[in-house]
Amino acid sequence: MPEQTNPFEIARQQLHAVADKLKLSAAMKSFLAEPEALHVFTVPFARDDGRIEVVTGIRAQHSFARGPAKGGIRFHPDVGIDEVKALSMWMTWKCAVVDIPYGGGKGGLTVDYKALSQGEKERLTRAFARRLTKVIGPDFDIPAPDVNTGPQEMMWIADEYGHFVGHPEPAVITGKPVDCGGSLGRGSATGRGLVFCVERYFENHGISLKGKTVAVQGFGNAGQYAARLIAGLGASVVAISDSRGGIFNDKGISVGAAIDHKTRTGQVAGLPGRAISNAELLELDVDILIPAALENQITGSNADKVKARLIAEAANGPTTPEADQILFAKGVTVIPDILANAGGVTVSYFEWVQNRQRYYWTEEDVNSRLREIMRRSLDQVERMAAEHKCPWREAAYLLAVARVAGALRVTRDL
Ligand code: NAD
Repeated sequence: MPEQTNPFEIARQQLHAVADKLKLSAAMKSFLAEPEALHVFTVPFARDDGRIEVVTGIRAQHSFARGPAKGGIRFHPDVGIDEVKALSMWMTWKCAVVDIPYGGGKGGLTVDYKALSQGEKERLTRAFARRLTKVIGPDFDIPAPDVNTGPQEMMWIADEYGHFVGHPEPAVITGKPVDCGGSLGRGSATGRGLVFCVERYFENHGISLKGKTVAVQGFGNAGQYAARLIAGLGASVVAISDSRGGIFNDKGISVGAAIDHKTRTGQVAGLPGRAISNAELLELDVDILIPAALENQITGSNADKVKARLIAEAANGPTTPEADQILFAKGVTVIPDILANAGGVTVSYFEWVQNRQRYYWTEEDVNSRLREIMRRSLDQVERMAAEHKCPWREAAYLLAVARVAGALRVTRDL
């Protein structure tokens, strides 16, 4: 039977696997298996040649049980309802694992956004924002950047929302530029949060990180910060890659020089070392593997060849359920995406808190609060895994789903 790769089916399988252990009622399971709200919009916008084009916009709000929905907006030709529903469910669990007061949301436009001119991008984003204004808000649903969206898109959306409510409302969206109410430390938050987890893991096991070898697949925002910060703790980054291929250097890669090279040339190829493929990178004999690119990278076909003893998932969904079972049987620990990459949403939460307080924190403040949350969450997941003798992903789900179900039991008869 081919491996399941529909993200929504995977998300439901993951939920069902823990629902029985938690003895959730049938009603609770059905309630959690779908978003509480799903909005699908037609979004017309003017092309530069005057033609009007209509694209599909989606926003899924998986859960409001623990607070407003929170999650990114992606603009990509592959964006579809199942993907958005799955991502919104994963956001619910992610926020619950690190215990921040949000449910999950996700949204996007099905469009080849990169092919548009700057003017077309602005007209399209603003047109989508005008649809979204009726279903988002600082107390209801707070979007953030995701694939192909960044501070500029967030500001266009915030601006449209401000016109809609009649006053500026920075807390409606996160990932804004620092000058417009963004938080210091947001750029590095995902990689930093992941490294706080890895550091704590080694501390808990009484092992030093010094000299431990690391391979990082994907050298964008999350991968670069993770590589830089883990090297700062004395580990040796021996392999990195991007969509065009990778590089292996057993003497260690200078991460600062690699970031300069990638910024200048757009690729990691050309750095000193041996050229390797992305598939080879995953199977290297290293201590720590950090997938920081795409989903479905470690699968039933290559999981038994993975040699790392610790995998820390910066990417969302890089390991399939079949691979998870193989890795657990081999004794490999996987710090799952919903914990390892939760630093990003945690600092988004800090941004929202600062916007609402109209009082802004220093970068040191942001990083130290992030550290506290990541370390506490890692400890809780590790304890849960030990108690249930289960993979860390399952432990993180047990923790997260129990928190959400607990909130629902208080407010609804489920
Ligand atoms: P990014 O676009 O900055 O970087 C992605 C990197 O992956 C690029 O270097 C790209 O070349 C590389 N890549 C693309 N296809 C590849 C392939 N087939 N093999 C190897 N590398 C490939 O994106 P990002 O923000 O760093 O996000 C990376 C992952 O982390 C995504 O799964 C994202 O959902 C997840 N994530 C990011 C954040 C965040 O705050 N940035 C938060 C949570 C999760």
